[in-house]
Amino acid sequence: MAKMIIGGRLTDAQDGRTIEVLSPVDGKPFEQIPRGGTADIDLAVAAAQAALAGPWGKFTATERGRLLQRLGQKVLDHAEELSLLEARDTGKPMTTARNDIQVLARYLEYYGGAADKVHGEVIPFLNGYSVTLLREPLGVTGHIIPWNYPAQMFGRSIAPALAMGNAAVVKPAEDACLTPLRVAALALEVGFPEGVLNLVSGYGEEAGAALAAHPGINFLTFTGSNEVGVLVQQATARNAVKCVLELGGKSPHVVFADADIERAAPIIVRGFIQNTGQTCTAGSRLLVQREAYEQVVARVAELLAKVRVGTPEMDFDCGPLVNASQHQRVNRYVNNARAAGLPVLATGSLAAELPAGGYYVQPVFFGNVPRQDALAHEEVFGPVLAAMPFEDEADAIALANGTSYGLLAAVWTENGGRQQRVGKALRCGQVFINGFGAGGGVELPFGGMKKSGHGREKGFIALEEMSTTKTLVHYHG
Ligand code: NAD
Repeated sequence: MAKMIIGGRLTDAQDGRTIEVLSPVDGKPFEQIPRGGTADIDLAVAAAQAALAGPWGKFTATERGRLLQRLGQKVLDHAEELSLLEARDTGKPMTTARNDIQVLARYLEYYGGAADKVHGEVIPFLNGYSVTLLREPLGVTGHIIPWNYPAQMFGRSIAPALAMGNAAVVKPAEDACLTPLRVAALALEVGFPEGVLNLVSGYGEEAGAALAAHPGINFLTFTGSNEVGVLVQQATARNAVKCVLELGGKSPHVVFADADIERAAPIIVRGFIQNTGQTCTAGSRLLVQREAYEQVVARVAELLAKVRVGTPEMDFDCGPLVNASQHQRVNRYVNNARAAGLPVLATGSLAAELPAGGYYVQPVFFGNVPRQDALAHEEVFGPVLAAMPFEDEADAIALANGTSYGLLAAVWTENGGRQQRVGKALRCGQVFINGFGAGGGVELPFGGMKKSGHGREKGFIALEEMSTTKTLVHYHG
């Protein structure tokens, strides 16, 4: 059975309760994890506080950075073991799982290298004074992460926090947390002091809610659904704790008639089938200028027809969805759209020999989706693409901005002026011009506008989010 990590010890839940982990491949149980709750979160927060008051609080930035880099190397040394674990837990194809483990290592290397490059400032003030702006850790940081990219999200969340000298308590998702649990155990082996990195597995309404509401945390970052994000923010607000929210998306590709369609089409397909569509930045809306609409959708449909779904070992383009409720959710959207008569332009195919009981779905591409349709607004979190035509630049911007989300967008055009105008007019945290980057991009500040959340992760900006300033005003005459 997998163990949690609290205060440097591998442990079960205080009350001994467990959760059965079901395999996405066949729906059968294959592992157990501790069902942590309030008592375990209390212990983890106390362990993190003790770590800050102990040797960890005296570590130099160079020492913290070195430990993170050592952990990055350790992850690379265990890459195949971790990739197999990640694939087994989430159902991802092996190639995707291997890539995710490389990205996890990159987060550890990147923030390890950055730890001692964060400087304070000297501020000119009155004669006789010296003013220094110091950058300091926030204290105990809480991290609630989802199941879609457990390894990547874990690295993205904890690496900047530890680089800045915080001590972390992580609540990974109950559906997929085996890789984070294993990496936290490896962190002890490379020499992270006890209590610096604590992981409490368990259900969101139990361990997650207890962490968000804990008066002992000084910061919380949450990645997950909009509904839970709002609950979490309410809980942290009661203790006046800063909260970063990384929520959902309905990201558009905006394709103008002059675009390089041969370059765009495979990237558009990858952008919505990646991780079987369970990606917050999935490019799930395809907006095409009317004169090129038929040509673009035909090319995308042609490529989608070659996409295959299988088990992680088959290593096709997509694996199963993560669990039964995701399976029901995606099928509901697809069945509703079919029942409403939306034209299916293409589907991917399921492998012939799939284990019974797995959560497999065919990727599907709907054309001429009405602008008010659920598929034009709601996050499916599955491999479903909705195409819509637009008339001109103004219409494209209105349509692209016309959802409550604002996470990521792509603009496809060869016109330099239009690239800049449209790129700047889109209300979202990242815009790609003639490209699309769902996931990865460790160096690139990332986060939402509107209902996609607030605060930024990735890049140097995460070091600012996960630290605070102190203004030291010194009168010396
Ligand atoms: P979720 O909100 O159900 O769960 C996310 C995490 O929150 C899990 O660890 C869960 O246990 C925990 N949780 C659940 N209820 C809780 C509660 N009441 N209090 C505290 N914690 C609780 O989301 P999900 O289904 O795991 O993930 C899918 C969503 O996440 C999608 O909307 C997706 O777009 C979003 N997402 C966003 C990003 C991003 O970076 N913006 C990345 C990945 C996923």
